[in-house]
Amino acid sequence: MVGRIGLLLVLCGLSGAAYAFGVEGCKGRKDPYGGKPPAPKGMKRSTQHLTALKNTIPDLRVALAYGTDQNIMGRPFYPKGADCLVLKPLAQRLRRAAAALRSQGFGLLAYDCYRPWSVQVELWKACPKRGLVADPKRGSLHNLGAAIDVGLYRLDTGKAVPMPSAFDDLSFRARHNYQGGSKAAREHRRILLLAMKKAGLRAIGSEWWHYELKAARRRYPVLDATLQIRAE
Ligand SMILES: [Zn+2]
Repeated sequence: MVGRIGLLLVLCGLSGAAYAFGVEGCKGRKDPYGGKPPAPKGMKRSTQHLTALKNTIPDLRVALAYGTDQNIMGRPFYPKGADCLVLKPLAQRLRRAAAALRSQGFGLLAYDCYRPWSVQVELWKACPKRGLVADPKRGSLHNLGAAIDVGLYRLDTGKAVPMPSAFDDLSFRARHNYQGGSKAAREHRRILLLAMKKAGLRAIGSEWWHYELKAARRRYPVLDATLQIRAE
């Protein structure tokens, strides 16, 4: 379901990146950090700002793509049973979005949430190319717990709804302004976008699934804490 190449690229913080780069874009790239990138300034190992989103949104469905072996490393980056952790202010906004979606018969389906910095390093080592992978020296907003990748599922059937592209497709089809796909898929994308924006979250044009907390970098540090630690 989730392509090897795609997972590599679902690294958000790559706004504007195109899936068309594919694995080829990584070839011959040398890691300028020699496998040991500098940690971002102020990085913390604590999970104190994070919360398990399921505590806030009980009908959240969690399907973390990095919990599978379908990625560039051919192994899961996340431990079994990893939680969908996010910053508490993000959880509060997502709760508002989830309430609006629930009234329309939809639930949130989480593909990626907080991503430990050390995982970002592994991804970078596999593909040290800015624009395809967020440079660990700065980190992705996912490394702060300030971003989430989500789709929708139907509350009555439990099934994920169609979107104009797969979650892992970083081609033009992943863009919010892509007019292909079915009418229903475009409508689902729009419903998700409206609910998230109304809840105060920011979208990026290149990935229909990615939403983030505004101004998070100024307020929160990059974190490198295990996903096995439950925040509450
Ligand atoms: Zn993302």
